[in-house]
Amino acid sequence: MKANVFGALYGDTKGKFYAFNHKREYFKLNPAVHTFMLNYQGLLVNLTNYHMAAMIEELNEVPSINYLLGKVESIARRTSLRPFEKVLLYYFEANCFYCGKTLSGMKRETHIDHFIPWSFVQSDNIWNLVLACN
Ligand SMILES: [Zn+2]
Repeated sequence: MKANVFGALYGDTKGKFYAFNHKREYFKLNPAVHTFMLNYQGLLVNLTNYHMAAMIEELNEVPSINYLLGKVESIARRTSLRPFEKVLLYYFEANCFYCGKTLSGMKRETHIDHFIPWSFVQSDNIWNLVLACN
């Protein structure tokens, strides 16, 4: 911290976040910064962890685990596919895409499925949606 962080961050923040003196072992946060950090501690920790994980992910050379954070973020944004049901029932003539069984359109009997699995293509575009029976 002393060698690489205090001085660099002090310069980056134009001395507004804290004061420090290495020889006197002195470090003091600006009271407004201290209050901000206390009020948003959870958010700051999550943000810091996210950026550290993204950096580690970028440095990691194992291809299968690359871009996990992007996938996790996309999954978090998944929304209900129900709004597509009506148009899909019309387009597929109320038949299961996979087996052809007639679908009633009732909940728990008619499912909207990603043809290309969500884990490969994080898309709710209608070209990737089909109707399926149980
Ligand atoms: Zn079916």
